[in-house]
Amino acid sequence: MTKLKRLLMRQRKNLIVAFMAAAGSFLLGVTLPMNLRATGPLEPMQAKVLAVSQSQEQQPSSNINQFSEAIAHRVEFSEQALAQLQETRFQSGVPSEFKGTSIREAKLDSQHKAIALTFDDGPWPKTTTQILDILKKNNIKATFFWVGRYLKNSPELGKQVAAAGHAIGNHTWNHEYLQYNEEGAAREIDRTSSLIEDLTGIKTSIFRPPGGILNNGLAAYAQKKNYAVVLWSADSLDWRTPTESLMDNVMRQANSGGIVLMHDGGGNRSRTVKALPDIIAKLRKKGYIFVTVPELLQMQEQELKHQETAHK
Ligand SMILES: [Zn+2]
Repeated sequence: MTKLKRLLMRQRKNLIVAFMAAAGSFLLGVTLPMNLRATGPLEPMQAKVLAVSQSQEQQPSSNINQFSEAIAHRVEFSEQALAQLQETRFQSGVPSEFKGTSIREAKLDSQHKAIALTFDDGPWPKTTTQILDILKKNNIKATFFWVGRYLKNSPELGKQVAAAGHAIGNHTWNHEYLQYNEEGAAREIDRTSSLIEDLTGIKTSIFRPPGGILNNGLAAYAQKKNYAVVLWSADSLDWRTPTESLMDNVMRQANSGGIVLMHDGGGNRSRTVKALPDIIAKLRKKGYIFVTVPELLQMQEQELKHQETAHK
């Protein structure tokens, strides 16, 4: 996690430096003509003219102060906007080597006990909100794979999930177990990603095929379009298991770099809502930290880079 934080800090710093440089040259461009005017040849020194010219000189200088202030504000504002943009992109984007591939988990050093909670088939009235509350209480960012037509039904809920900083993935428009040609797969996937972007500004690059089916045309299309196809390594089986067994299902399969499958929508998810706080507590007790799927992949990438430099 510290590596990830360092990476984010570095990206942020680079952005700030770039922007300060741009703003600096802008400021220089404005002050330069005023300086030239001040040092240019003066008219004959009649008292009256001098008085007028002094009052004229004072005005631009106070304008410059206001102007610098305005720029400072703008730098600050744009720095925030850029950082936020970067964050949003990062929120659901993945390192390039994972684009067009499919993964079940990240390969992490076992000393980095990081795990990603994922919630499918939302946004869903009530249960999505309940799960958001639990995640917020525990200060956890998770990953939500949305069904396009449900997002269309609950756009405000979708915006809330994204605004809370969770990662968003594409889980098709209709969530059906059919065979798709390329045109059909495009309709399912493109339409959903467009709606996600329209509503939240997030351009997602993670896709999860309904049922984890990899051979019905959807995953193939997603990979062709450079999504990372994200499956899971720990299935809570929350759609058919009593609340008491959910925790055992997760704990039995939990590992470092793991991806846990749960559901916040698509049916009655009260069991998931009920079991989630205990699952989080138990994983935390075992030493896990919670990250989003893109963060998990970023961690794997960082570890690989670190190993490469260590071996040189
Ligand atoms: Zn699903």
